[in-house]
Amino acid sequence: MKRFVYADNAATTQVLPEVRDVMLPFFGDIYGNPSSAYSKGAEAAEPLKAARETIATLLGAKPNEIFFTASGSEADNWAIKGAAQSNVKKGRHIISSKFEHHAVLHALESLERDGFEVTYVDVNPSGVIDPADVEKAIRPDTTLIAIMMANNEIGTVQPIQEIAAIGKAHGITTFTDAVQAVGNMPVNVKELGVDMLAFSGHKIHAPKGIGVLYIRTGTRCRTLIDGGGQERGRRGGTENVAFCVALAKALEIATARLPQLARVKAMRDRLMNTLLDKIPYSRVNGDITARLAGNLNMTFECVEGESLLMWLDASGICASTGSACNSASLEPSHVLLSIGVPVEHAHGSLRFSLSHENTEEDVDHIIATLPTIVQRLRDMSPLYNSSMARIKE
Ligand SMILES: *Cc1c(COP(=O)(O)O)cnc(C)c1O
Repeated sequence: MKRFVYADNAATTQVLPEVRDVMLPFFGDIYGNPSSAYSKGAEAAEPLKAARETIATLLGAKPNEIFFTASGSEADNWAIKGAAQSNVKKGRHIISSKFEHHAVLHALESLERDGFEVTYVDVNPSGVIDPADVEKAIRPDTTLIAIMMANNEIGTVQPIQEIAAIGKAHGITTFTDAVQAVGNMPVNVKELGVDMLAFSGHKIHAPKGIGVLYIRTGTRCRTLIDGGGQERGRRGGTENVAFCVALAKALEIATARLPQLARVKAMRDRLMNTLLDKIPYSRVNGDITARLAGNLNMTFECVEGESLLMWLDASGICASTGSACNSASLEPSHVLLSIGVPVEHAHGSLRFSLSHENTEEDVDHIIATLPTIVQRLRDMSPLYNSSMARIKE
């Protein structure tokens, strides 16, 4: 039987059976509208309230600071456009970074077309932003800092606590896209000191199509959808109770499993060290210490990442090059370019993202498969043969 290895958990994750189970009643008997006054409505309103409370508690927030959205992308857009537009009297300048997710970068580009100005701070070669660079970018008209908590391609973790403190000292709103961080490292909005934080269900074993934006009480951020007053009047639309309940369950499980990330990290490290050892001209992209436990991003010189993916798929292995949203384009990853990886190396890069669901056998299968694939592709590569010839001379 062919082995199947899912090693692309930064792109999406499978819904856990326990998470699926808590949703099922809402596709059956519990169909009331949570806003209805009668008891059929209360049947749905109570689990929704409990879900909001659970999420708030796990993140160190208050329940009325938790706003459900339909995705991480929606939460990113809401935070950035909502905060920017509510603060135009003060200014139109935003600080972000070069290696944000496209949900952030494209929201910022949209604001730039509307006359806002954005400073994209550099990322250092290890994949970490220097808070001093953020502080240097501050102007009298800066109203928002938007820096991600953990990068989706290279997994590097950013000093958000320090960045939020800088924002606070200058009276500037700080938002962090924590879609990759939540569930994969401890995240507490109070400790971080951020004003807004986004995360998404499908990256933590809940369904696709549910996310959360945390908005600290007192933070100026426009209403997203005018409607029937749901989400304290800031995002209209009858709530997707099933998915809200699922998200709370998934976050509860992810939080309980945080200590077990040591096992995920050990698998990632074994995969990394073995591949570095078995595959010449390979390297790891981004710092290996300030990094999410399951993330491994490597470059294999003189091969195309896309070809690697196809051959891995033929062996039942799911991995990624760049980000999944980019897989149709052959643009090199903006994240790898931002940390100074040369274009030709960016093309030969591969991301494995492991989760609690992965096993040592999964790692064995990748180790048994990838070196042969790389060698086969290099044998066919005129580039590799000529550079090898040069080295031998
Ligand atoms: C996946 C991801 C998003 C988008 O979340 P969706 O729920 O898929 O819209 C945003 N930011 C980061 C860092 C991500 O990894």
